[in-house]
Amino acid sequence: MDLSNANMLDEAIVTTKIDAVVNWGREASLWPFVFGTACCAIEFMATAASRYDISRFGAEVLRFSPRHADLLIVAGTVSYKQAPILKQVYDQMPEPKWVIAVGACASTGGFYDNYTTLQGIDEIIPVDVYVAGCPPRPEAILDAVMDIQKQLKREESFSVKHQEFKGKLDDV
Ligand code: SF4
Repeated sequence: MDLSNANMLDEAIVTTKIDAVVNWGREASLWPFVFGTACCAIEFMATAASRYDISRFGAEVLRFSPRHADLLIVAGTVSYKQAPILKQVYDQMPEPKWVIAVGACASTGGFYDNYTTLQGIDEIIPVDVYVAGCPPRPEAILDAVMDIQKQLKREESFSVKHQEFKGKLDDV
């Protein structure tokens, strides 16, 4: 028997199991940082409160420092003036991290097609899930959290995500 092949096989099996265990833990303990700027942030508050109860999905530990968070939830209109602040928040979050754009404004600028409003946060940071609506209902925000949970199950434990992403502020 080729011993080197046997060792490689063992390593492959162990690595897969570590990924599964780590991702299982992450899936049930997302720590969100909410960048709430407008009406969609009120919908997020409803999502987190008792009626919709985001803690059913293990994501109720809201953080007030990006350094403690792994899920960035951007809820509301983002102006060009706020864009560097949002970018800094994203950059300060440790890997691995995920981003949800809640509502039309965060996803595309919404109906604020004007000189002050960022036309979608994906101009400056990567987005994993977009939530349609103005505003989206709390169920849609919970659906986005479940979508993130599905995505992270497929990831390698120690990978760095979105390395290829280049936003408009990355060269500034
Ligand atoms: S998408 Fe609609 S509800 Fe959400 S922040 Fe924009 S205007 Fe407000």
